[in-house]
Amino acid sequence: MPLPAPSSDQPLMDAVARAYTAYGQKVGRWIDAFTRQGGTVHCRSGCVHCCDFPVRCSLAEALLTASQLSPEQLDAMNSRARQVIANARSASGWDEYFQRHRREIGYCPLLSRETGACTAYEVRPTRCRDTFSALPADYCRVGTLENLNRREKAEYAREVRANPATDGLSHYVAPLEDLSEPIWSAASRVMQREWGLEVWGDFWVLTTLTQDGAFMAAVRAGQAAKATKRAKALGLWNAEIVEIG
Ligand code: SF4
Ligand code: SF4
Repeated sequence: MPLPAPSSDQPLMDAVARAYTAYGQKVGRWIDAFTRQGGTVHCRSGCVHCCDFPVRCSLAEALLTASQLSPEQLDAMNSRARQVIANARSASGWDEYFQRHRREIGYCPLLSRETGACTAYEVRPTRCRDTFSALPADYCRVGTLENLNRREKAEYAREVRANPATDGLSHYVAPLEDLSEPIWSAASRVMQREWGLEVWGDFWVLTTLTQDGAFMAAVRAGQAAKATKRAKALGLWNAEIVEIG
């Protein structure tokens, strides 16, 4: 197991954990009601196509995840963080970054290739909790939407518009994304209260940064410039990937 986080980080992790629990209860109630009305949420255990998406989170969430990872898992997070930074530095824009993330960097290192399960399920970040599909999982697979022909695109658009759980634009369940807003707010509030600043960014990069004493000391002292300088020195900085302030 990793070294335990300083006790000063406990209020941050507790606030995030409480927000996750409250969100999980709301999700259960929403899905029950939707199912009773004849709706279907297609997410199942072992369904993995969304585990190659970029994931944004707060440093408070990353602290909670890191607290439960083994040294081997943290090493794997570090390797992926460096791939994320390299991708951000060389991509010409969001679309290229996003596609390369999915197609070349691929699945999250916390995904078990044997079972398709998340090995950090209890401490996975918000984005991994609030992504649900209102259409079959094949639509989540990288390349599916990009490769639809004109007739299939029209059918997809028609199905998305007809499904009451979507925003009319994509097949993901919009109300369940909206319901996660209090988690983001709780993370924001507790970071401001404990550190006087907020850190947001890529999940794998932030989880890796939690393991660096100098970076975390600067964050805990509310020193944004010093934390940024340390992230740069570690090779874990890109303005599109880490926001400190
Ligand atoms: S969002 Fe898509 S890929 Fe992810 S679990 Fe749900 S159906 Fe599967
Ligand atoms: S943390 Fe878990 S749910 Fe999230 S991308 Fe990684 S394996 Fe998938």
